[in-house]
Amino acid sequence: EEEEEEDKYVFRSQFPGVPVPDNMTLPEFVLHEAELFADKVAFVEAITGKEYTYAQVVRDTRRFAKALRSLGLRKGRVVVVVLPNVAEYAIVALGIMAAGGVFSGANPLAHVSELRKQVESADAKLIVTSGPIYEKVKGLDIPVIIMGEERIDSTISWDELLEAADRAGGDVIEEKINQNDLCALPFSSGTTGTSKGVMLTHRNLVANLCSTLFSVGPEMIGQVITLGLMPFFHIYGTVGICCATLRNKGKVVVMGRFELRMFLNTLITYEVGFAPIVPPIMLALVKNPVVEEFDLSRLKLRAVMTAAAPLAPDLLLAFERKFPGVQVQEAYGLTEHSCITLSHGDPTKEHGIAKKSSVGFILPNLEVKFIDPDTGRSLPRNTPGEVCVRSQCVMQGYYNNKEETDRTIDSEGWLHTGDIGYIDDDGDVFIVDRIKELIKYKGFQVAPAELEATLLSHPSVEDAAVVPLADEEAGEIPAACVVMNRNAKESEEEMMRFVASNVASYKKVRVLHFVDTIPKSPSGKIMRRFLKEKMEKRMMVP
Ligand code: AMP
Repeated sequence: EEEEEEDKYVFRSQFPGVPVPDNMTLPEFVLHEAELFADKVAFVEAITGKEYTYAQVVRDTRRFAKALRSLGLRKGRVVVVVLPNVAEYAIVALGIMAAGGVFSGANPLAHVSELRKQVESADAKLIVTSGPIYEKVKGLDIPVIIMGEERIDSTISWDELLEAADRAGGDVIEEKINQNDLCALPFSSGTTGTSKGVMLTHRNLVANLCSTLFSVGPEMIGQVITLGLMPFFHIYGTVGICCATLRNKGKVVVMGRFELRMFLNTLITYEVGFAPIVPPIMLALVKNPVVEEFDLSRLKLRAVMTAAAPLAPDLLLAFERKFPGVQVQEAYGLTEHSCITLSHGDPTKEHGIAKKSSVGFILPNLEVKFIDPDTGRSLPRNTPGEVCVRSQCVMQGYYNNKEETDRTIDSEGWLHTGDIGYIDDDGDVFIVDRIKELIKYKGFQVAPAELEATLLSHPSVEDAAVVPLADEEAGEIPAACVVMNRNAKESEEEMMRFVASNVASYKKVRVLHFVDTIPKSPSGKIMRRFLKEKMEKRMMVP
């Protein structure tokens, strides 16, 4: 009887299920029928104009897969890719997967020590990077492929590698790859602790694309030009932009970094129709006076998608006022669920399906429930609880980390997201809070445990805790409370600089206070909520 009660509040998509083909790997799925679009451009770099047609994407994916096999890459082995968004990015990722390898994207802004951690914890056998980033990876002691024609030290150049693959004969992929094999290992800190490899299979990603393309508007992706600005190393870029667009045979305009003038120029010059972004970019579009330099009537933009962090209702309204012809489509997802989980209807349809202020409806094929975090019981409509999702998109677990896996996916297959939300009477979902430790700075993951470990590595630090503080521009910023040794001489500013010199720039602690003690629960856990509230109060005191 207890169990019946539990199941009472499981919500399913209001849309019929969509079929998921079970006989294709991810590269096969997204490049299916690409030969019919051979001359169509799939990727163009905004700055350089460098292009790849569908025929070239198919050809180079195959060449790269062959080259990787001849370098000795075996099934299930991880290749870490440290690249900004470039025209070849999807070819690199799909080539690794087509060879039976596992693609693990890293943030090109990462600190050397962070890259080392990713390479070591993924047991990676190879790195793909570019000249300017090479300095960061050269000490890692594994073979490096450098994009372009030039090689540095004992690295292998991309051009040489592909040419060598042409000369080598034979069909290279002997080992059968099936959908249940791993194909991607993005890194995420999940609900607690430091960054971990998220094990995703071909099946996970194919299933996610099938659910997503149903709703994000097949009419949108593929038929209008899509902006490729969201980082391709992150699941939002890999799956949501590159794979989704390839599957629908659309075109991606690739941008390596955000700069407002360049962004607006690119939208206009390349006639971008669909721009997946994050809330801080929307804020810049609404607030930054640079926007006034542009004739917005020249924009062909029909929709923006915003995901990765909460969208403030006021910001949504201000954006709609300034860009009246542009539809806003919010989406919610997480790395552990292969990408998108909740999203809006096709914005090209006259009436959006989900309510504007919601993050969207449950995608087809998914089950979602909202549980009381204390009792674990599922909750009825309109009652906030922890969002749990069950579907074929749920990761296989964290790489080499059973403990964290068991904490995140329960015995019935539910993925516990660490986010708080509710579903209303119309089936629209609202995300209202986050109970996991994760901090999102401009949509990028910042794990408090990592910053705490960095602080604790300093000889003058006795204890430390890092919590998020609300920030209009970034969404959230990391703020630290630090207990110093009795004899410590360092100032708060010096401690902030110490952290900054040891982590990627977007992770640095932006507020730091010395305190006498860190509040802990009887079991020794940092009382993050309490600390956050204390810090917020302190910020308000001039
Ligand atoms: P990531 O794995 O880096 O994509 O981070 C996933 C997390 O980002 C989610 O668990 C949420 O905490 C947050 N997130 C993603 N999309 C949204 C959204 N639309 N609204 C609020 N939070 C979001």
